Amino acid sequence: MHTKISFQIPPEVSHVTRTLRATGHEAYLVGGCVRDILQGIKPKDWDITTNATPEQIQALFEDSFYENDYGTVGIVNETDDETLKVVEVTPYRTEGTYTDKRRPDSVSFHASLEDDLKRRDFTINAIAYDESKGHLTDNFDGIKDIKDKVLRTVGNPQERFNEDALRILRAVRLATDLGFTIEVETMNAIIEKAGDLKHISMERIRDEFTKMVMTKNPMIGVVMCQKFGLLKYIVPDLERGIGIEQNGDHIYTVWEHNLRALQHSADREWPLHVRLGALFHDISKPETRRWSDDKNNWTFYGHDVVGGRVAKKALEDLKYPKKIVDVVSSLVRYHLFFSDIEKITLSAVRRIVRNVGPDNVWDLMKVRACDRIGMGRPKEAPYRLRKYESMIEEAMRAPVSVGMLKIDGQKIMEVTRETPGPKLGFILHALLEEVLDDPERNTEEFLVKRTLELAKLPIDELKKLGEEGKEKKEEEEEKELTEIRKKHNVK
Ligand code: ATP
Ligand code: MG
Repeated sequence: MHTKISFQIPPEVSHVTRTLRATGHEAYLVGGCVRDILQGIKPKDWDITTNATPEQIQALFEDSFYENDYGTVGIVNETDDETLKVVEVTPYRTEGTYTDKRRPDSVSFHASLEDDLKRRDFTINAIAYDESKGHLTDNFDGIKDIKDKVLRTVGNPQERFNEDALRILRAVRLATDLGFTIEVETMNAIIEKAGDLKHISMERIRDEFTKMVMTKNPMIGVVMCQKFGLLKYIVPDLERGIGIEQNGDHIYTVWEHNLRALQHSADREWPLHVRLGALFHDISKPETRRWSDDKNNWTFYGHDVVGGRVAKKALEDLKYPKKIVDVVSSLVRYHLFFSDIEKITLSAVRRIVRNVGPDNVWDLMKVRACDRIGMGRPKEAPYRLRKYESMIEEAMRAPVSVGMLKIDGQKIMEVTRETPGPKLGFILHALLEEVLDDPERNTEEFLVKRTLELAKLPIDELKKLGEEGKEKKEEEEEKELTEIRKKHNVK
């Protein structure tokens, strides 16, 4: 069929299809990129399918590499912004029978385009586009399903999920991402086959889960996973929050609160680790919930500490890289910090910066915002928010002190042959005053020279200089703090 496609195919992509065709092969754009351009969405990556063999493909393109058992060849292109972009070219193939629910027992490359489209997961992913002719091959009515916003398997859903159970989760992820509904037979098969996800490697599950969390509506995705019975194979601990009522401040159950926190992180387009932090932040409220007769209410003491550990284990089970595991579990562990507003002092902020690390403290503020919005409360009063931000910056800045000097007590003793005592302190503070007056002087050469001169002064005079240095230091400290507060518009 012919459909007008106004979408511009990037030159490095058409270069690949043109080269293949010029050497007598067939070449089609296929999969997600065709689905996306038919909806007017910019594709994230480009897949090409061809009747050329992996060896023939590699011979045609200099910067190419063999990717996997499926004969996929990655072709590396340099793009305008100097990043490397890979176009993936996969030979047509048919797949043999599946006995392990995740991999075909055999793969055959002697296949046609029709065969290749038939082995793909969903109708909307099984459309091939020949841009040299402007022609679309759509044997499974994928274009109609795109128009109707329906996700449907190619062929019998039970059989397709039997072949590869990851398709069950891909269905939910794609429906979430695209805002499509799942066709009823496909949905019934998802529910029926949900348990087969246990045959799928955690790495593949993680990749689809990550894509789902990174969509615009991850809350819908996680709810679907739960309703269809998939969540227990992804993050079982989250399900424990279902129906767990909380105390007066909270209008939502633990489950719904975690979901709403996640959704807020997506609404703000925050990165993966913040989204996971939001989703997991109250993961351990169910097991720490206790009734307090004194308060006549539920308490959740320690849910932050326990939650940090539970989140760590859940993320490790999902095989997330250590870096993500550490950041997310520490965001969960310390998420309560900024909720105890009245008690926040500068030294408490310093402690938290030390605990989560200076790189993560701003993300902790983001998780806190998700927590708050996820409770159904209004956004933080702007003044209070600015006050926190100011305190974080105050806590993180290097203090004005003799530690800034390019010389230390050790070195001073070395060059003056002085022994430890008050004289050393006087010299350091006198030097600090000079450096504060003119930061250019903060070189070892200058400071050694000045040390030798200062060391010759009578002790009273040196003491006076040292005290002046101390006063100057305090003035500078005050000045810097005032600057930060002015910047954040707080007192
Ligand atoms: P995205 O836009 O997120 O990349 P996509 O549909 O391109 O989505 P990919 O994982 O890049 O997803 O896969 C490319 C294509 O390969 C799919 O469109 C589909 O045709 C096919 N495909 C991928 N995974 C499977 C699978 N498990 N079973 C059958 N076909 C699959
Ligand atoms: Mg893709």
